[in-house]
Amino acid sequence: MIERRIRAARFPAVKSLDTFDFAAIPSLNKMLVLELARCGYILGRENVIALGNSGTGKTHIALALGLAACQKGFPLTFTTAASLVNQLLEARDERRLLRLQRELAAVKLLIVDELGYVPLSSTGAELLFEVFSQRYERGSTVVTSNLPFEDWMSVLGSERLTGALLDRLTHHVSILSLNGDSYRLKASRSRRGRLDAAEQNQASADPHDPETGEVLPT
Ligand code: ADP
Ligand code: MG
Repeated sequence: MIERRIRAARFPAVKSLDTFDFAAIPSLNKMLVLELARCGYILGRENVIALGNSGTGKTHIALALGLAACQKGFPLTFTTAASLVNQLLEARDERRLLRLQRELAAVKLLIVDELGYVPLSSTGAELLFEVFSQRYERGSTVVTSNLPFEDWMSVLGSERLTGALLDRLTHHVSILSLNGDSYRLKASRSRRGRLDAAEQNQASADPHDPETGEVLPT
């Protein structure tokens, strides 16, 4: 059953809190994350919003909360904001919007990753608003964004819509703040650092004289 839920959730990758290094991101409230992983917020139909710059672990945390939900028996859908809006627009063009909206309203947990990277058309923003609005106090929504709330208008276009959306989304909410250095950059820097060190070691281990090419005594 757990595996079936994991497959149905359509995670882009399976990640858990076991592999998350909390020490790398001190701004993140670890106790709150561990509490959320117990899924009480899903029973309470509350929301979670993870905010922070790129590469700080927002998707990792969203995936881990999704995995925890699968393990605790909650069916869920994982998607990105851009993909969700595309699905909604497509459904509208094919005259099956109502059905998709009902499905999205009924899922216990909807995880919407990456709100903020792509500005939405006004129709797209309205359709996304309707999803959040129809889920309000009916199911839990997890949203991740690289933008602080005051910049959400740049994605959603209208001040009125942004206000109404935030009003619903943040009524019962836990906010996770992930601000710090990109873990991706740090990881690739330390990888590069190790490579450089290995090259230097190799160079110094070379038993040939670099000028004459003669084998040096060791
Ligand atoms: P974001 O969604 O905030 O841009 P991601 O969650 O995609 O960042 O993180 C980028 C990569 O770094 C992923 O492979 C993720 O698993 C890893 N990562 C980020 N933060 C951590 C962390 N604190 N501990 C372990 N891995 C991390
Ligand atoms: Mg991400």
